[in-house]
Amino acid sequence: MHTADDEMTSFELFDTAPTVDVREAEYMRLLGYPRGYTLEGRAQELASWAHKWYQEHGKPWIYARQVQEVEFDKKSVRVAGATFSPGRLAEKMVQAHATSVMLVAVSTGPECEETARRLWDEGKPDEYFFLEIYGSAVVEQLVAAASYLLCEWADQHHAAVLPHYSPGYPGWGITDQQALLRLIVEKPGLLLNERISAFDTGMLKPKKSMLAVFGITYRPELVPKLTELIPCENCSLLGCQYRRAPQKYSLPRLEQVRNWQQKRKTEV
Ligand code: SF4
Repeated sequence: MHTADDEMTSFELFDTAPTVDVREAEYMRLLGYPRGYTLEGRAQELASWAHKWYQEHGKPWIYARQVQEVEFDKKSVRVAGATFSPGRLAEKMVQAHATSVMLVAVSTGPECEETARRLWDEGKPDEYFFLEIYGSAVVEQLVAAASYLLCEWADQHHAAVLPHYSPGYPGWGITDQQALLRLIVEKPGLLLNERISAFDTGMLKPKKSMLAVFGITYRPELVPKLTELIPCENCSLLGCQYRRAPQKYSLPRLEQVRNWQQKRKTEV
């Protein structure tokens, strides 16, 4: 049974050393290989090298904070005084009788993209590509890891977590990235602004980072009835003990890899 105390229990987490466990299949998908393809030769060497490089040098982090000060209707969501038009997130929050949100930021840290850029400058495009895409796979894995932590917390508090939504997703303008980031980093003493920033265009720095909003409802019984509200269908975390539905779709691609590869081919 859900009690008033559950709603008052706020969650905050800042993990500066999360375990990074990129699934090979996810990395292969982001690299643009067909499902079931086996890497060989130079490509396999590069993939192993990128994995090892990140294990040794990457400094990933995950931050999440629950915000109770939330008002919303079907078109907009107001979080702690900041108003967003986050597309389907608003509708989903209405459907699920959400009462708060989790603000989440994840990042690979700056080392990955700095090294990838240096490799490109040094005329090593293959190393650049494999490391760059490995960074994208790490971001997806960090979002899945954040989802797991939130679902675990929700399970203990008679709540349910809705699928995450981010600026740049359908219906939510990427330019809201700056306002969302301001909201996330504004907490005194957090010093997150030393780790992440956003350009006017909405691009994040480090580039391999992601901001997300998860709606929280204390009416978990509603979620299974509203199938589009089950986050597990889009979550890549295999073996999750809280999973309520099989994975249905791949997560949105962070990189349009095939287009990029095609572009490179036409440039050569
Ligand atoms: S599989 Fe479902 S319960 Fe597990 S982390 Fe993903 S969204 Fe949460």
